[in-house]
Amino acid sequence: MTPIPFFDGHNDTLLKLLEAQGPNQERLFIDGMSGAHIDLPRARSAGMAGGFFAIFPPPLKGNLSSVIAGAGQASPLPPDLALADAQAVTLGMASILMRIEKAGGVAICRDAAAVRASIASGVLAAILHIEGAEAIDTEFRSLDVLYAAGLRSIGLVWSRANAFGTGVPFRHNVDPDIGPGLSDAGKHLVRACNSMGVMLDLSHLNAAGFRDVAAISDKPLVATHSNVHAISPHARNLTAWQLAAIAESKGMVGLNFATGFLRPDGVMRADTEIELMVRHIDALVGALGEDGVGLGSDFDGAMVPAAIADVTGVPKLLQALLDKGYGEALVRKIALENWVSVFERTVG
Ligand code: ZN
Repeated sequence: MTPIPFFDGHNDTLLKLLEAQGPNQERLFIDGMSGAHIDLPRARSAGMAGGFFAIFPPPLKGNLSSVIAGAGQASPLPPDLALADAQAVTLGMASILMRIEKAGGVAICRDAAAVRASIASGVLAAILHIEGAEAIDTEFRSLDVLYAAGLRSIGLVWSRANAFGTGVPFRHNVDPDIGPGLSDAGKHLVRACNSMGVMLDLSHLNAAGFRDVAAISDKPLVATHSNVHAISPHARNLTAWQLAAIAESKGMVGLNFATGFLRPDGVMRADTEIELMVRHIDALVGALGEDGVGLGSDFDGAMVPAAIADVTGVPKLLQALLDKGYGEALVRKIALENWVSVFERTVG
């Protein structure tokens, strides 16, 4: 049976490849990479048609997993990242994706027509995304260059502060209303992205920054990998007013598979049920409608339920939706079509 094709709102596979080092990181993706959630052979067999490939400049000092594992504790934001450091990592990760493209593994898609053409020809459609705008200078010169390289989606912040705004900490049982809103440069960046045709991603942004984007942006509001705060009250998840703002803009949310953002107790535990993922999707469909929900796995950046395990487990989630009574047409929208639609309405 042919699996239902799906498009993923967020993965950190480029970070996994960067960390693997060595001269041929693109071959790891194309031939298969043990220990990763996504590589090309498994993406193909699972029905993955494409996704947003994040460039994430990790903290230079300290341990990323200790920052993220601070769920439930008062873990501070990691230190700011210098422009030059962020740019070096960003160029490295963009280069990996370009080499994968050159070797035939993906097509870097600059608009929705390219996404559709890539999917139709059986090539994995990749949208270049940066998770945190640390590599962008406040005169937006590097934005011009990254746009020319194919960048079409920007998360203003990761879970730290930068020149544009402030992210939420990895903290459970709190509201995301922590810290200040966007800087003037951040507001300029929102307008620049609107006029260039670059999607803005609100995942990781704090509530004040979210309000600023909602007030300024004339495009659908999108959170590529976030869940429902009413089910799992993590600072990374979306509260009722945030979901209402996204719905009003005809925007979209991608379900994050990270167990710490799924579970009511905020704990990262592999023995988390697929049923809980379905509960979040139910709540998202209720708040956003059938056009406003997709997948945003966070593969290669988070601990996902053992029942999913990696990209080959996504069909189990789609089957769980069918079993729950979702019609096939709706499952196909959640799996793929909603992402392509919102991309078309924000980027072109
Ligand atoms: Zn993230």
